[in-house]
Amino acid sequence: GVDVLTVGEALVSLRSSAPLNLGGSLTMHLAGAESNVAIGLARLGHRAAWVGRVSDDELGEFVLRQLRAEGVDTYGVRRDPDRPAGLMFLERRTADLTRVIYQRAGSAGSALGVDDLRGPLAAGPRLVHLSGVTPALSDSAREAVTWVAREAAAVGTPVCLDVNHRARLWSREAARAALVPLAGYASIVVASADELDLVAEPGADEGTAVAGLLRRGVHTVLVKLGADGARAYTRDGVTPVAAVPVTAVDTVGAGDAFTAGYLSGHLDGLDLTGRLGRAVALGAFAVVASGDWEGLPRRDELSLITGSVAGTTL
Ligand code: ATP
Repeated sequence: GVDVLTVGEALVSLRSSAPLNLGGSLTMHLAGAESNVAIGLARLGHRAAWVGRVSDDELGEFVLRQLRAEGVDTYGVRRDPDRPAGLMFLERRTADLTRVIYQRAGSAGSALGVDDLRGPLAAGPRLVHLSGVTPALSDSAREAVTWVAREAAAVGTPVCLDVNHRARLWSREAARAALVPLAGYASIVVASADELDLVAEPGADEGTAVAGLLRRGVHTVLVKLGADGARAYTRDGVTPVAAVPVTAVDTVGAGDAFTAGYLSGHLDGLDLTGRLGRAVALGAFAVVASGDWEGLPRRDELSLITGSVAGTTL
């Protein structure tokens, strides 16, 4: 079996360096929250698999080719003959502000179903990683990720859930209705501070939301704070971690990189301090390079950027 099974939709991202309304050249990239995490883990030498549906054409082939080139296991991927690839058009205005246009409704990826996940889960991954994007895609995708989380939790396989709210895909109310039950199967919940109430009561503050999650069996809640770093909550309390001070050129993908770093530390058996150090290091690698995942480090590059917690260099 693999170390980590990730499930989601991979998109073809078409990036423009100029404002999109001016036209001009676009460059073609692989995008997707879960595939970003899979690539981050694979670059560090972990066995990571990605499962989802791709279109049965050159765009689907592109997605598979990129994942394979990065050493991600695509064994369980299904090609959907009836649906197109999900697309996104990207226009970066500033390091922090990227305008996105999606063409993903009715995509191959959105047709994900429970049957797509039976084989990959039966192979016995050590960890399952999901994001809150996938349940927003369709009823069948929501059923699929809920099924895989429940089945993994039932056999004691830890589930990591990144809330990853996409306001373009669903309302906060609809997200909460799907994500609250999903979080109940998770061991690790990752969220930005403004996403925490999507896995809690409407309007819940951070302390209340975290306490509720820990009470429901979540072991670790990671709250991402951008350039301010992150906070990790466990039953033992809260551990803050500073971001690595770097010059950000493109912050897209920072959250996925952070999650990949945390999970890598988990797989390596590091303590919380070590896991957080690797998480902020990967977040920094993501923001210093253009692209969602292109700048992520191989293991022998990890020492180029190191995170520190409470004065400890990692
Ligand atoms: P995205 O949705 O764009 O992937 P996010 O909102 O999920 O990002 P952030 O909180 O922005 O995630 O970033 C995740 C982590 O990446 C942070 O906890 C931090 O460690 C690192 N990071 C983000 N921005 C910066 C920055 N400007 N400088 C250094 N590290 C950063």
